[in-house]
Amino acid sequence: MPEYSISQIGTFENCALQYRLIYVDRIKRYEEGVEAFLGQRFHEAMEWLYRERAFRVVSLEELLAYYEKQWAEKWHAEVKISREDRTVEDYRLMGRRFIEDYYKRHHPFDEGRVLGLERYIRFPLDESGRYKCKGIIDRLMLASDGAFEVHDYKTGAGLPEQAGLDRDRQLGLYQIGVQTLWPEAKEVRLIWHLVAFDLEMKSRRTPEALEELKRDIAGLIDRIEAEREYAPHESGLCDWCAYWDLCPLKKHLLKVESIPKNLWKDEPGVAIVNAYAEKWRKKRGLETEVKAVEFELGEIREAAIAFAEKEGVQVIGGTDARLRVTGKERITAPAKGSEEREALERELRLAGVWDEVATLDPSALEKAVAEGRWKGNILERIKAYVRAERRYTVTLTENS
Ligand code: SF4
Repeated sequence: MPEYSISQIGTFENCALQYRLIYVDRIKRYEEGVEAFLGQRFHEAMEWLYRERAFRVVSLEELLAYYEKQWAEKWHAEVKISREDRTVEDYRLMGRRFIEDYYKRHHPFDEGRVLGLERYIRFPLDESGRYKCKGIIDRLMLASDGAFEVHDYKTGAGLPEQAGLDRDRQLGLYQIGVQTLWPEAKEVRLIWHLVAFDLEMKSRRTPEALEELKRDIAGLIDRIEAEREYAPHESGLCDWCAYWDLCPLKKHLLKVESIPKNLWKDEPGVAIVNAYAEKWRKKRGLETEVKAVEFELGEIREAAIAFAEKEGVQVIGGTDARLRVTGKERITAPAKGSEEREALERELRLAGVWDEVATLDPSALEKAVAEGRWKGNILERIKAYVRAERRYTVTLTENS
């Protein structure tokens, strides 16, 4: 049974395909955003600061020199800066500022005893050990009042709300891990160092909240293990995904981008889309025209009905055409899902005539089969009558 980290579970929730590429196929990518690179360097500086603290308090100058050294040594060509108005220097200096602020706020770094730095933890989520989790705690501390503290450094530019941190799964899960591995940790405090704001935020979890978190995580692990399709899911996070070349939603876009613009029209996919877009736009123009004509026709139709009723005629003569106006009573059933609809269906069943008016709803059947809603041999017996066929939808999106 594999072990799951919160980032692994989060990846699955965001995009099952990206999950498969990273955690099932284990395809490595070295591309990273400069924000993640900066975050790593800050974490390293903090780890070094607290490791050294067992022997001495390092000076701010030493700490900054350590950070600069790591930055220079670890910088690589695959670090991407997505903001065009920013440079590497901007980010390097930002990291320095984070370190200076943190240093001044926490010097001389004697708030409690260090229990672990970048501490790797593995623990079961339930008593049977069916669900296994893992994680790395930035800094695990023992406070002077005997509480365990889970410290997490955040270098991101977004300020989280307290309510969001009170629901944060990562540190909540770490608390479960800490209390599983060290049962003497009766009280655990969760602490975020939001270094972009020189701010510290805290949260505590009730036993009920931890139980709920365990259930949620176990449910997500079940979903991961039942997954077979690993479909891609497009979102704002795609901009930070390093797997565009393997993603069916992105790989052609990536290919087109790599071709000089003057050669685009010769690329077969581009030619198809351009031809499709041209016809689609023409169709849209015609549809707008048709809608306007339909509206006018509707108005004339109303006038024809009023005229026929007033004059007591069914046929109205024109210069070179005639209009036949026929009225017929029609029955309409109450809307699906309404109480009246349910009452009507009950009546029809009671009267024993339901089979005469009920028909199979193919989309409801498809949904029930796809979801595996019916258990046992019901599903098997139904599957003998239905065929799986691949249906395509082709949707045009205009580039902004
Ligand atoms: S580009 Fe987006 S949809 Fe494709 S694998 Fe990455 S995250 Fe998923």
